[in-house]
Amino acid sequence: MKIHLIRVSLLSLLVGGVYALASSQADKAPTEKPVKIADGVWFEQHHDIGKFGSNISWIEFSDYVVVIDTSFPLGAEEAIRNIKATTNGKPIRYAIVTHYHADHTLGAGAFAKEGTTIIAHENARKEFLARNVEGYLKTAERDPVYAKYQPTAPQLTFTDKFIIDDGKRRAEVYYFGQAHTTGCIFTFLPKERIVFTGDACVNGPFNYCGDSDTASWIDVLTNVQTLDAETVVPAHGPVAKRELLQTQKQYFLELRAQVAAALREGKTLDQAKESVDVPMWREWTGEKKMSAENISHVYRELSRGALNWSTGDLNQPGRAPAAIGAEELKGLAKLKFLSAALSPEDAAAVAQVAPNVEILVARTKEEALALAPQVHGCAGSFVTPEFLAAAKNLRWVQQFSAGVEQITFLPELQNNDRIVLTNMRTLFAPPIADHVMGMLLSLSRSLPHYEELMKSGTWGKGDQAPYQGELLGKTMLVVGLGGNGMETAKRARGFGMRVLATDPKDMAVPVYVDRLEKPDRLNALLPAADVVVLAAPLTPDTTALFGTDRFALLKEGAFFINIARGRMVDTGALVAALQSKRVRGAGLDVTDPEPLPPDHALWKMGNVIVTPHVSGQSPGTRLRTRSLFLENLKRFAVGEPLINVVDKKAGY
Ligand SMILES: [Zn+2]
Repeated sequence: MKIHLIRVSLLSLLVGGVYALASSQADKAPTEKPVKIADGVWFEQHHDIGKFGSNISWIEFSDYVVVIDTSFPLGAEEAIRNIKATTNGKPIRYAIVTHYHADHTLGAGAFAKEGTTIIAHENARKEFLARNVEGYLKTAERDPVYAKYQPTAPQLTFTDKFIIDDGKRRAEVYYFGQAHTTGCIFTFLPKERIVFTGDACVNGPFNYCGDSDTASWIDVLTNVQTLDAETVVPAHGPVAKRELLQTQKQYFLELRAQVAAALREGKTLDQAKESVDVPMWREWTGEKKMSAENISHVYRELSRGALNWSTGDLNQPGRAPAAIGAEELKGLAKLKFLSAALSPEDAAAVAQVAPNVEILVARTKEEALALAPQVHGCAGSFVTPEFLAAAKNLRWVQQFSAGVEQITFLPELQNNDRIVLTNMRTLFAPPIADHVMGMLLSLSRSLPHYEELMKSGTWGKGDQAPYQGELLGKTMLVVGLGGNGMETAKRARGFGMRVLATDPKDMAVPVYVDRLEKPDRLNALLPAADVVVLAAPLTPDTTALFGTDRFALLKEGAFFINIARGRMVDTGALVAALQSKRVRGAGLDVTDPEPLPPDHALWKMGNVIVTPHVSGQSPGTRLRTRSLFLENLKRFAVGEPLINVVDKKAGY
């Protein structure tokens, strides 16, 4: 819904504006009268769907009440009065917040004041802290209803399943993965066959998908359908029958099919917005025109492949800087971007998306240096200390790889706050993750052994292959859960593996990762791993991460895969670990040194597969990197926040 479109910087304004509207109607209760939908189960529909809060429902247990969603403070106060009136004043013990969006969470403080414990998914807690608190506090400065309460994060979180059962009544709370947000949860009453869906299934025109992954959302709805509910209670719009789940799903299936068709026909986003039309959606919602936001969200998802961009920078531009702000741009006639030579198609695309950007072309370092004083943006390949010293107007560097270690640690770049560095992280991940699984399967099924036999036409069934294992039930440890790590983890889960991961970021735990720890826990996780995959960026912290000590912690016979950077591994220690069979086999797309010298020991080892740093290459990668560059150039030209901004100090 509209409310979610406003970013952190605007949230206070929004919340304030919404409340001003709500108070002007203060004579009117914010919700309809509560309706009993089953014995002890109540539903309170919000008046004006999507505007001032969400529906609130409650379930009466023997000694207490459980609430679904907390709405805005005004709606929460109203609900608390109604809950007491309908349940003989029983204490409200738990409030289950279906997801983190403001209209479902901002009333949590009113419930907390009643002694209610707020429950949400762990991802929702993280999102709440990141997005809602600031706006709440600003609103509270001028709004007495907000000022009465504190912004309230969930006190109790979970990652998979949560059950409330007092022997008489049972509520099962499920997480099935990313849907409307990364933290959408479903409360199911098995006896009554009622499911509360939050915004992951709404009954009306409010299908906001800016924080979603629509492919995953469809899967999540399929999971919800297996609960076999008869009644669906959405967070917006009236209560419905089970068919509503299919309607919601159908909408995304048809929207994705139509956008995919538009992409196949080569349509731009603007053309797709004109042509895409999902008639069932218009019937369902009563809206005359298709949601342009939904079309562009799905367009971005599909034009960028299977990766989930929706939870990345694309949806959090409020947190990312613009290279040159819109105000400052007014004083500049034309922006100049330094690039390698562009193909005619690329030049035409650039002219279309960013007519006020002039592309300057340099073929050599000297040419680049001569042009440096003029340029506002440049490709990362030109960046050297001399170039940076000369490029006084430089504000944006677009690196065309995911790794930025060659330039980000240059003090001239790292310490210059005026220059925004962006990279191509996550865009190479699909083929890289395929490459990881390819090497792992090759090793675990001894494919190189059979390939050798093929050369002499030998049907070697009686031969003993070096190893014939299986991945089912094995444990993969992914070191670094960025784009490459995520895609690898997804694939590993598809093979029935347990997935452990380490990452320094405080991030939502994806549904296909069993355990996520900080890097300082790496040594504790290593003995559990059957497969270790290096997928972290090269930084001072990860240089020579794997040496003799860490290889000694590995399980006997583990596999080791490196698609990150060669310098993260002490090559001599790896060779020794392979010789001693501590490491059963290694798949290396990167080595140290690189290129690997022709006489290196790794070439001659039967249990090693070496590829020459090619795992990221694919036509999809070329399409994705091109579209990200064009998108960033467009944003650069109009002073909008850039995508894939690098934390220059952290180095990724
Ligand atoms: Zn929402």
